[in-house]
Amino acid sequence: MRVSTLAAVALALLTAGAGAARAEDVALTFDDLPQISLSHATAYAEVTTRELLAGLKRHRLPAIGFVNESKLEGPDKPRRIALLTAWLDAGMDLGNHSYSHGSLSTTPVADYIADVARGETVTRALLAAHGRSPHWYRPPYLETGPTAEVRQTFEAWLAAHGYRTAPVTMENSDWMFALVYDNAVLHHDKAQAARVQASYLAFTAAIVPWYRQAGLELLGRRPAFVFLLHASRLNADSIEQLAAILTANDLHAVTLDRAMTDPAYSLVDTYAGPDGLEWLTRWSLVLNKELPWATLPPEPPGMEAEDARLDAMP
Ligand SMILES: [Zn+2]
Repeated sequence: MRVSTLAAVALALLTAGAGAARAEDVALTFDDLPQISLSHATAYAEVTTRELLAGLKRHRLPAIGFVNESKLEGPDKPRRIALLTAWLDAGMDLGNHSYSHGSLSTTPVADYIADVARGETVTRALLAAHGRSPHWYRPPYLETGPTAEVRQTFEAWLAAHGYRTAPVTMENSDWMFALVYDNAVLHHDKAQAARVQASYLAFTAAIVPWYRQAGLELLGRRPAFVFLLHASRLNADSIEQLAAILTANDLHAVTLDRAMTDPAYSLVDTYAGPDGLEWLTRWSLVLNKELPWATLPPEPPGMEAEDARLDAMP
């Protein structure tokens, strides 16, 4: 099939269902459970989890958490497993984010598959107790395979084990603010915590409409979005404001299962390469259409460098 024909078919598929109310749906997905944090203390994770889940329930926001089971290891393992149980008890879903958050671009595929299989040990049992099974896989760094062969090998394994890849079509670089916020919280520096949170929320309020506009320009309609967030204290302390940003953008939170019924997600993206690309970028490659990068809101200056500095600390 010629590229132009492929693009036309893809566009027809993507624009199916245009105008339906559900086009404003957004699925909230939280990676790196039980927590992404500067603190390794289980007590810190417990506060984060409790506040995050309480906020999601208070605003009736369904969500799925993607687990790195390597983060359960240690003397506090039962307490850390209890954090995952809390997600299920709060009515949320859990998915697999690999055991150790490895890179498919740099890890031999057989080793990577073994790590993903190891990553569902606890989660599968917890879901089974709720009559469910894991069926979403979120690739760390959004890496889906450095070559077509690796990608096919891994996706065949996923399919054979009942998994689908959970894509990402909206994100706010929340990871970049999370450790900087933790640093302020751990130093009881309320003024600095408030500054980081304000910067985070301003950036989120700017970039959410960018994604909606980018989706509209790319597809000719607004698709259901899948929003990548992380299980952080920053998000736990910001659910109120994040919910307000969603409302201000006419976004209605739904489960990942529901968002993924949008026809946009049935388009097979053909990207094979080492980069971890979001799906709007993947679709833009299939459709041979540019995303409006020129209007992408700039990240707050210095935030990424501060995150890298904190991340490098022992
Ligand atoms: Zn991750």
